[in-house]
Amino acid sequence: METKTIVKQKTGMYENVMKQFNHAADVMGLNEGIRKILSATNNEIVVHFPVKLDNGKIEVFTGYRVQHNNALGPYKGGLRFHPTVDIDAARALAIWMTWKSALAGLPYGGGKGGIQIDPKNYSQAELERITRRFTYALGDNIGPDLDIPAPDVNTNSQIMAWIADTYVSTKSPANRHNNLHVVTGKPVGSGGLEGRDRATGFGVVATIKAWAQLKNKNLKGKKFIVQGFGNVGYWAAHFMAKEGAILIGVQDASGTMINNNGIDPEALNDYCQKNKGAIAGFPNVELIEAETFFGIDCDIIIPAALGNQITLKNANDIKAELIAEGANGPTDVAAEAILLEKGINIIPDILCNSGGVTGSYYEWLQNKRSENWKIEDVLILLEDKITVAFNKTLKTAEQYKTDWRTSAYIVALQRLEQTYIERGVFP
Ligand code: NAD
Repeated sequence: METKTIVKQKTGMYENVMKQFNHAADVMGLNEGIRKILSATNNEIVVHFPVKLDNGKIEVFTGYRVQHNNALGPYKGGLRFHPTVDIDAARALAIWMTWKSALAGLPYGGGKGGIQIDPKNYSQAELERITRRFTYALGDNIGPDLDIPAPDVNTNSQIMAWIADTYVSTKSPANRHNNLHVVTGKPVGSGGLEGRDRATGFGVVATIKAWAQLKNKNLKGKKFIVQGFGNVGYWAAHFMAKEGAILIGVQDASGTMINNNGIDPEALNDYCQKNKGAIAGFPNVELIEAETFFGIDCDIIIPAALGNQITLKNANDIKAELIAEGANGPTDVAAEAILLEKGINIIPDILCNSGGVTGSYYEWLQNKRSENWKIEDVLILLEDKITVAFNKTLKTAEQYKTDWRTSAYIVALQRLEQTYIERGVFP
């Protein structure tokens, strides 16, 4: 039997999210008991499961699902297939989901998980078997009213379709179609929502538009860079280009490129589709050192890849006036202090990328009601909801005289605090 050991660095995201939480709890004076409840995760599921590879050998994989809190509704959050997935990363990402759902006013709690693999090492058939066996191993720990996964790094609508199919196939046939909303981000033909594919990137740009309006700025001609050119990065670039902004730099796992005259997001996306999702080799760009990326002379930075990318190593180099956090946890606490000191605005992840979970919520509702929603309606609803959360965050920042991340946390924590105070703690 073969096992694969993945050598990886600790990401530090858990320490980051807890520092952010404790700071916001101090600023707002969060009830002590509720602070204790929210400091812990409710459930942490680790599964080891075997899968037969194409060469006939068996490999054992490790999967995680952390369920942080469900005071407001079922656990909700993505599944990530990446070598950095471990219990700490799943905890941090699950905790962020609780704040994100609460801030967006959704009837959800927070969960997150994934498998510690590099999907590039597996064929499509192997990935299907890994996904299905992981879903089977999670068993009744997920469910449409219990815990609802969604796409994240290296997981897409195809993977969500396999999860939905495995889940419903292992339940009674009588309930088959009542269970499709066990997962969101499915392909449209399998109960997915039109517009869910672009919901996160669309939401990122909706927050940037709200910021521009607040600052009396025009996005036309603004230069921006994007780290990560997957689901979130591409769609954010697409909607920024629609506003007349110019994409001048892109970084992904395969390379770092710049062109001050502009990079066409559509041409780059077409290229990536034919190049296993990688930007490397795209023509008419200059290649630069990876470490210099965030220091590119531009107006707006959209991190849309992994956590802890903006750190003490590069915060001082940043020249942009705005960082719009498409990714979860891209800026660490130490770097944020420097950026705020420099007067750089940060639209925090739990607000900036909440279009994803909001789109997922509409898909879940669509499935529960056996309806088919239209993309135009979805995008209007999304923009409205995200603008409400943006305005609440601004108002709370003024009230508490604090930064936007802390105020976004306060809005979320106030909602959770109120729920616990009203309902009490069982028994
Ligand atoms: P994706 O798998 O579609 O794309 C990830 C991108 O990041 C790829 O372009 C990849 O090459 C790049 N990347 C990976 N490692 C990198 C590295 N070391 N340096 C630079 N780039 C690197 O994933 P996604 O769904 O677009 O998610 C991106 C981020 O957005 C994640 O932080 C995720 O948690 C967050 N997010 C996603 C959604 C969603 O709906 N998909 C919603 C909210 C937040």
